[in-house]
Amino acid sequence: MTAGKIAIVGAGPSGCFLAQSLLKSAPGLEVDLIDRLPVPYGLVRYGVAADHQGTKGVARQFARVFERQGARFFGNVTLGRDITLEALRGAYDAVVLAAGLSQDRPLGIPGADLPGVHGAGTLTRALYDHPDAGGLPGLGPRPLIVGNGNVAIDLLRLLAKQPGELDGSDLGPVATGWLAQSGIEEITIAGRSPAAQAKFDTVMIKELAKLSGVSIRVLGAGSSDDPAEQKKIDAVQALDGIATGPRRVTFRFGLTPVAVVGHSHVEAVRFATDAGEEVVPCTSVLTAIGFGPSGDLPREALLADATDAGAGALAPGLYATGWFRRGPRGTIPDNRADAQALAARILDQLAPDPAKAGRAALAGLAQAVDYTGWTRIDAHEIKAAPEGRCRAKITTREEMLRLARHQETPQ
Ligand SMILES: Cc1cc2nc3c(=O)[nH]c(=O)nc-3n(C[C@H](O)[C@H](O)[C@H](O)COP(=O)(O)OP(=O)(O)OC[C@H]3O[C@@H](n4cnc5c(N)ncnc54)[C@H](O)[C@@H]3O)c2cc1C
Repeated sequence: MTAGKIAIVGAGPSGCFLAQSLLKSAPGLEVDLIDRLPVPYGLVRYGVAADHQGTKGVARQFARVFERQGARFFGNVTLGRDITLEALRGAYDAVVLAAGLSQDRPLGIPGADLPGVHGAGTLTRALYDHPDAGGLPGLGPRPLIVGNGNVAIDLLRLLAKQPGELDGSDLGPVATGWLAQSGIEEITIAGRSPAAQAKFDTVMIKELAKLSGVSIRVLGAGSSDDPAEQKKIDAVQALDGIATGPRRVTFRFGLTPVAVVGHSHVEAVRFATDAGEEVVPCTSVLTAIGFGPSGDLPREALLADATDAGAGALAPGLYATGWFRRGPRGTIPDNRADAQALAARILDQLAPDPAKAGRAALAGLAQAVDYTGWTRIDAHEIKAAPEGRCRAKITTREEMLRLARHQETPQ
């Protein structure tokens, strides 16, 4: 009996966890991971903070999916541009969309389009040398971060760090220079919910206590009868009064943005509060309020017509997992449970058709980068790491493709 051919679109955490689960249960499957980038691992490479290398270590687990379990990587192939969903479904017994959500959710208030308003996804891609990112914008002396999830805290921490605190990271030279010369004097972080319901994890807050050059104020953290909520409040309240240096950091809660104020550039944000309204002056606004689809794939229509959206079943032989299915919530490990449940469902429903072409349908895509190509890029980046950094990321597709195509062999 033929083993079955499965294409997973997106080689981020959810795609890799799914391939891992599928191949663990059914080692004979042909599992192909297709990614628009010449490099795998999605937000592990381009979202997880450069100074959180421990978290990025999950990539070693994902590497084993290719190196030991036999999954194949087809990088530099975009579904919706290089190959259609119909063509992929025609070639594989099952297709899984694990394409994540990469667009910043817009603020959707007057003034949100003013120069000086930047989405966290756009900014982190630029900081972490994503090949499709634009340049790093000037933030001025008083950036204001809107949001109180872990992504907002990541941004706050990076902007607040002294250059020496980034040792051991993979932050590139452009971003390093940009941070060192930012001229930031004060960072305000404003969340809509009270501190008790803030989305950040307590461990992320506790890490801020180690910052070496900041003076932190926490305003309006409140209190709660709920012990779990009070624990969160205590963690953030414990930061109040930390004074290790001149860069001021102010936490605010219960502030709902209603307008970005300014003539030709951001000058302030007007918030609705319990007490009425408040205008907070700033020189830039960084929004960290969630993510949406990029537009390559008709996500909303696919989910609306799904046979069982909650379980990731979109149509016969078509599935979704990870952020693409659930929305922009959950950490890397959260995608594992999702992937395991979906793998069981796919294997239960799989009806292999020997007539399906499988990966032969991708053979004509001359631009595709395989896993060996990625290992060449990876080896080059690690070898080229300057002092104080663990890798020197390649920043352009052109250079990635040049390296992937043999111009340098791994040691
Ligand atoms: C800024 C930021 C920081 C984070 N930090 C942490 C952290 O420290 N710890 C933690 O546990 N979690 C963190 N997370 C959450 C974590 O990154 C997500 O849970 C996880 O990445 C979701 O995995 P995914 O595979 O669904 O999506 P992604 O990681 O986004 O992967 C999707 C992949 O699909 C590819 N793709 C997209 N469209 C196409 C297409 N049309 N064709 C082909 N390929 C396509 C993309 O290139 C990408 O590689 C962070 C998230 C963000 C945004």
